[in-house]
Amino acid sequence: MSRAAARRDALRVVAGERGLDAVLVTNLLNVRYLTGFTGSNGALLVSTSGADLFGTDGRYTTQAGTQVPDVGLLVDRATVSALAREAVRRGVGRLGYESHDLTVDGLAALEKVLADAGTAPELASVRRAVEAQRAVKDDDEIESLRRACAVADQALAELAAEGALRPGRTELQVGRELDARMLTLGAESVSFETIVATGASSAIPHHRPDATELRDGDFLKLDFGATVDGYHSDMTRTVVLGHAADWQREIYELVAAAQAAGRAALAVGADVVAVDAAARQVIADAGHGEHFSHGLGHGVGLEIHEAPVIGPLGAGRLAAGMAVTVEPGVYLPGHGGVRIEDTLIVTDDAPELLTLTSKELLVL
Ligand code: ZN
Ligand code: ZN
Repeated sequence: MSRAAARRDALRVVAGERGLDAVLVTNLLNVRYLTGFTGSNGALLVSTSGADLFGTDGRYTTQAGTQVPDVGLLVDRATVSALAREAVRRGVGRLGYESHDLTVDGLAALEKVLADAGTAPELASVRRAVEAQRAVKDDDEIESLRRACAVADQALAELAAEGALRPGRTELQVGRELDARMLTLGAESVSFETIVATGASSAIPHHRPDATELRDGDFLKLDFGATVDGYHSDMTRTVVLGHAADWQREIYELVAAAQAAGRAALAVGADVVAVDAAARQVIADAGHGEHFSHGLGHGVGLEIHEAPVIGPLGAGRLAAGMAVTVEPGVYLPGHGGVRIEDTLIVTDDAPELLTLTSKELLVL
C-alpha cells in the first residue's frame, strides 16, 4: 500500500469515528498529502465505505494518472462541485468538509450544489483533521526533511568557507547568494523569504534584507531554509563579524543555553506550553524575559509553519514523529539580537537533530 493510501485510511478511521459517510478535502496541501498530487487544482472525496474519488481539471489528467494512480479520477473544471454531486449520488448522509479552508462564498456554493443535486447531506466540519495527521511524520517525510535541512546546512557552510559573509557586503547580496546556493545544492525552492539581518537590524526578529552593509563587530543573523519534495527546513544562525564584544558573547551564550533547554524538553507527551517555558525561563532568569518576544517553535512539513505551535498560546502534547523547530531569541532594540534555530524530530528517545551546523559562536 502506498503512503498516500495509508494516510487516506487513517482519515477514513477519523471520519468513521465522527459519524461521517465521507469527507470532502479541499485544502490543496491536504490533497497532496493524501494523494501525492502536486498540481494547482485538486480535491478529494474520502468515503468511509472505501471508494475514494480524486477530482481535478483537464490540465492535469495526465499528471493525475501518474501521481494518483490508485484513486478513481473525476475530471471537471468545477472540481469541488462535481465531487459534491457525486457524494449526493452515492447517498452520503453526513459529509465532512474543511471549514478552515472553504471561504464563506465557497460554503454557500457547496450548499447550493448539494441542495440542487437531490437529498442534500448534512455538512459537518472536520476542522483540521488532516493537519493533525500531518503533524506526525512518516519515514518518507522525515527523510525529505533530513535532506532539506542538509541542503541549508551545506549552503551556509560553503558561503562561510568562501568568505561571502564579510564586512562590506550587503544583506541583500548575502541573502541572494544563500538562496542561489540552496537551489544549486538541490532545493526545489527556498522555504520562505530568507532573513538576513545585521547590526541593529538583528534585533528585529523578522527583518527583511536591505542594502545595509555588513560591518566589523556586528551580529549577522541568518534565518533560512530549503524545500525538498515539498518539505521545508528552517534554521537560524547568528554569527559575529570580526570580533565579538562581551555583551554579544553574553547574550549569545544565554540564547544557546535557552535553546539547549528547549531541545532537552522535547519529549513524547510533553505539553507544548511547558516546552516553551523550559527555554523561556532560562532567558527570564537572566533578566531578558521581555526581549524574547515570540514563541519557541513550530511544526514544519509541507508548510513552513504548521502544527504543533510550541509557545505560550499553543495547546496539546508532543508525539513521536513530530517535526518541530526550537528557536529562542533575545533582541536588544537598537543594539542587536541573537536567534538560534534548529529543526528536530521528536522521538521516544532524545530528539533527532536535523540541523547539524554548529551552535558555537562563530566569529568570521
Ligand atoms: Zn526560521
Ligand atoms: Zn522557524
